[in-house]
Amino acid sequence: MVDLQGQYAKIKAVVDPSIQEVMDSAAFINGPKVHKFQKNLEDYLGVKHVIPCANGTDALQIAMMGLGLEPGDEVITADFTFAATVEVIALLRLTPVLVDVDPVTFNIDIAAIEKAITPKTKAIVPVHLFGLAADMDTIMQLAKKHNLYVIEDNAQGIGANYTHTDGSKTKTGAIGHVASTSFFPSKNLGCYGDGGAIFTNDDDLAHTIRGIVNHGMYKRYHHDVVGVNSRLDSIQAVVLDAKLVYLDAYNAARRSAAQKYSEAFKGYSHIMTPSGKTECKGICNTCDCHVFHQYTLTLKGIDRDALVQHLQANNIPCGVYYPIPLHKQKAYEDERYIESDFTVTNQLVKSVISLPMHTELEDDQIEFITKTIIDFIDNNA
Ligand SMILES: *Cc1c(COP(=O)(O)O)cnc(C)c1O
Repeated sequence: MVDLQGQYAKIKAVVDPSIQEVMDSAAFINGPKVHKFQKNLEDYLGVKHVIPCANGTDALQIAMMGLGLEPGDEVITADFTFAATVEVIALLRLTPVLVDVDPVTFNIDIAAIEKAITPKTKAIVPVHLFGLAADMDTIMQLAKKHNLYVIEDNAQGIGANYTHTDGSKTKTGAIGHVASTSFFPSKNLGCYGDGGAIFTNDDDLAHTIRGIVNHGMYKRYHHDVVGVNSRLDSIQAVVLDAKLVYLDAYNAARRSAAQKYSEAFKGYSHIMTPSGKTECKGICNTCDCHVFHQYTLTLKGIDRDALVQHLQANNIPCGVYYPIPLHKQKAYEDERYIESDFTVTNQLVKSVISLPMHTELEDDQIEFITKTIIDFIDNNA
């Protein structure tokens, strides 16, 4: 699904000496390299504060701790996302409220958010799923109206530009009150181990969070709040710094691959190719609101299991993100949920399939993959 070796080969000459430098300096934790990456990422995103941490799941948890959310507070998020999003809500004894998503963008459904808001609601967590910016202007308006926090889960969307209704652009993760991201190796900006970060434009919140990531310390050995230990190490920071320079080019390569996939599937009514906001007229692969963390098709009237088998038989990797709605997961079931509120997610889990997507896809690989799928459809649909 990803080709991290091919990508590494191209940046080895930069990455290897910088890793060696960290080894020689022995400044493994919180050294100048972490600070340098943090500053560079702040500049890239146009956000005031980046607080590096150990992984994307911690980042979400710490963001919620920083906002002072308390047990019983309701947090609305999407039913169709990676489990980390709902996991940290539950872990903090907050109440997760899962809602349905939009069938075209796969992102959280605005009407469903509105319907789920109660006097106990304290926050909304939109996920820029598969790399497509969620409808942030509408979400921010809704949050303002109901006095809610917005926590962007930007683990899949780093580098995407959200276009506001006035035409101006902001990077995803720099719009909500706070945001989280992951530097897991397969993410769009991935390190060579685990890593994550929290973003915010709020000075006070940034200060609070800097203490939380470091055992609640604002002064050495004075623990003012209950914190955690969550840090990015210097080796990961130099890898990320080297890759940050290429992030826009990496995302452009993903978009270009996505465009070629979609072009090949044009006219096949059994395949719905990914698209974006209506403003983009369904060709979001040409616009920078999508960074294609995943390239995900929705199948119509095709046996997905059989297609997966056909792809496997041809040595083509594929993935199903995600096969089970979160509201049906044992850990997150809740008797308040009504199936008719999740018609989109319940359908998507049965019909989505993600194709190989990375920065090193060659035209002949894309051709082979699309031809293999089209052959299957011609013979089975
Ligand atoms: C990857 C991911 C996370 C978690 O990141 P880790 O670094 O693996 O902890 C959270 N949310 C979403 C949507 C993700 O894709």
